[in-house]
Amino acid sequence: TMRESYASENDSGFKCLKPELRPIVVVGGHGQLGGLFCRLFELSGYQVRKLGSQDWDRADELLVDAGMVVVSVPINITETIISKLGNLPEDCILADLTSVKSGPLQAMLEVHRGPVVGLHPMFGPDIASLAKQVVAYCDGRNPESYQWLLEQIQIWGATLNRISAIEHDEGMTLIQALRHFTSFAYGVHLAEEDPKLEQLMSLSSPIYRLELAMVGRLFAQDAQLYADIIMSSPQNIAMIKRFHQRFGEAIAMLDNQDKETFKQAFGRVENWFGDYAQHFLTESQGLLRQANDSTHR
Ligand code: NAD
Repeated sequence: TMRESYASENDSGFKCLKPELRPIVVVGGHGQLGGLFCRLFELSGYQVRKLGSQDWDRADELLVDAGMVVVSVPINITETIISKLGNLPEDCILADLTSVKSGPLQAMLEVHRGPVVGLHPMFGPDIASLAKQVVAYCDGRNPESYQWLLEQIQIWGATLNRISAIEHDEGMTLIQALRHFTSFAYGVHLAEEDPKLEQLMSLSSPIYRLELAMVGRLFAQDAQLYADIIMSSPQNIAMIKRFHQRFGEAIAMLDNQDKETFKQAFGRVENWFGDYAQHFLTESQGLLRQANDSTHR
């Protein structure tokens, strides 16, 4: 299987698709995601240098012969950091791993005349392997010069998904910003209500445990990262406000004991999901069976 082949290749290193590449410089390479990519590049035989926050006084020396530069710093300083990369060799590939794509891609195209590509690994640094993980990418400039990188990422086990930066960021408004924000708000609500978590767990069916896990896992991660993701664009905040407004409208329905309106809205959403409603019911049954098996293991 893919997982096994990943594990075995991982021990002996991955195939190197561009052995002649000059050093790869990972800006923010001591961080979580940057560190993961440094390990993957090293396991694939590339020469890797880390440019950390204390290394800017020797940045010229680190960057002068770079074959590729990968930016993986906190989102809120990403564009400022990119703007410092105006002196790269012209054939150097400039890439980033940022969770938002439009701003960083634009900044990379402005600062560098050579090949540019935006990457968004759709996973955190805690994964055991890249198998079944997705990396979204946005073409920037001279795609022919970084095809090997896209293929290298596939050799690590990930699936690639090509998308425009604008479509990516629109999708992330729902997939990341709104979802993380509703988890955040639910977490705040739980903490304020202060139920006994253990009792809640013991009363819970697997589906609620799963929901609790989805919310609780957010708070085991980095607050700054999620603040940056949620507040990364005005569209995100506008979307969250529209959700808030609809939440309020639904509350009015409760105050009026208006079950007719509830049922009508329910029907509209059911229609909107169409065949997916049944599909999601089946899929969630499968997931719950797996979750159940693993808690009883
Ligand atoms: P992190 O805080 O672990 O890593 C950031 C690194 O950048 C740190 O080592 C920090 O010291 C370094 N840094 C700070 N200022 C710097 C400077 N001026 N110059 C050079 N380095 C500097 O954060 P992370 O979670 O690894 O996130 C990095 C990027 O990866 C972000 O763009 C984020 O959107 C993206 N990303 C993260 C995840 C995730 O789950 N962690 C998932 C997908 C994408």
